[in-house]
Amino acid sequence: MTLTKKGDYSYGTSAKDIQTEMAEFSEDNGYPTVRYAQSVCACGNRSFNLESDEDAGVAQRTCAECGVVHFMGDSAEFADDADLGGHVCVCGEDVFELMSGVALYPDSNDVRWYYIGCRCAGCDLVGVFAEWKCEAGNADAFLAKV
Ligand SMILES: [Zn+2]
Ligand SMILES: [Zn+2]
Repeated sequence: MTLTKKGDYSYGTSAKDIQTEMAEFSEDNGYPTVRYAQSVCACGNRSFNLESDEDAGVAQRTCAECGVVHFMGDSAEFADDADLGGHVCVCGEDVFELMSGVALYPDSNDVRWYYIGCRCAGCDLVGVFAEWKCEAGNADAFLAKV
């Protein structure tokens, strides 16, 4: 695994590289990611289209293999207020490997901030595509639903 910087962009070869990029981003954001979980469809596939609305706190992934649509984390609770926009890589690809990360409140297992990291299936770009303040409570329950 290697994370390579090219200009403003980072490129990686593994899911672990997404975490490295997320760690750096979240550190700069002031709420460092301490736990991660990768999105895996019920069909076993790990590549998705991603739509999100950071203001509403909603992200939705669609499996690139079987087409199942899933609200990530606690997104389903806020879906009614969401105006979802799709994510497209700078290379034009819209299929990504997805990694979720959370920052926690001190001395707790409670979610404080939610980050969604992506690795492009086309060009291997890695980055944080969505993040918001998120008070979802128990991180285990939250990360089990990404
Ligand atoms: Zn699937
Ligand atoms: Zn790309």
